[in-house]
Amino acid sequence: DRIARKRDREFSEFRKRIKDADQFKVEASVFDDATYGALYKLVQDGHIDAFGGPISTGKEANVYTALSGDHEVAVKVYRINASDFTDMRGYLDGDPRFEGIGSDKKKVVTAWVRKESSNLKRARKAGVRTPEPIAVERNVLVMEYLGTDEGRAKRLSEVHIENPDTAYEVVQEYLRRLYDAGLVHGDLSEYNVVFHEGQLYIIDLGQAVTVHHPNAEEFLERDCRNVANFFARQGVETTPEELLAYVREH
Ligand code: ATP
Ligand code: MN
Repeated sequence: DRIARKRDREFSEFRKRIKDADQFKVEASVFDDATYGALYKLVQDGHIDAFGGPISTGKEANVYTALSGDHEVAVKVYRINASDFTDMRGYLDGDPRFEGIGSDKKKVVTAWVRKESSNLKRARKAGVRTPEPIAVERNVLVMEYLGTDEGRAKRLSEVHIENPDTAYEVVQEYLRRLYDAGLVHGDLSEYNVVFHEGQLYIIDLGQAVTVHHPNAEEFLERDCRNVANFFARQGVETTPEELLAYVREH
């Protein structure tokens, strides 16, 4: 009918506009129609008013800034056709929240995005600073933007750390709180911790697993190794074993 035709036309125009926008030029070929549909829905629902530039183009996802009302948000778009998708399936194992999800590519990626959003919520509840999740649509996550007008918040790996002992104490406490809340980050390192408004924030919780995951303890050990070794290089007196003991035994 007429209304449906009008809606289809509006969507076509939206897709064309996004495809033509400079910031999406490079990646346009990997955005499938369903992704344009998800972005469109987020605009329709009022979560996004205008797209900004890319913050990061990674293996599985690209992160963009966008305007929502008078403030910026971060939009993480997972590529359904990302080649590393098979790894994603494994990170859903044992997670009671995503039982029976199967191995259909689209279902896995959309479950993954919902998992990232619920991990962010759970971490925040446990007292860990992370971006606040705002909306989820298929393979797209809209979240609080960490940074200023000048640019995204800097990673630990990118800044000179004034006081490594204090920073280490904070990250150690975050690890413990996450574990207490039943989560293991699984990709924690100086690349997934950022400085925002004078505080440390943990990002990138998509792959974070619950402690029920068969490899949860192995992931925790790896996280502790990355973090302790990084801070040891900054002069902090610690070892992966000490950090692991702190996280497990408190
Ligand atoms: P990688 O594979 O590089 O770890 P990723 O695809 O898993 O990346 P993230 O780590 O979540 O995705 O994001 C990539 C980069 O985008 C981050 O290192 C960070 O600089 C930036 N970023 C992510 N989320 C936000 C946010 N909410 N606010 C500001 N910048 C962000
Ligand atoms: Mn990352």
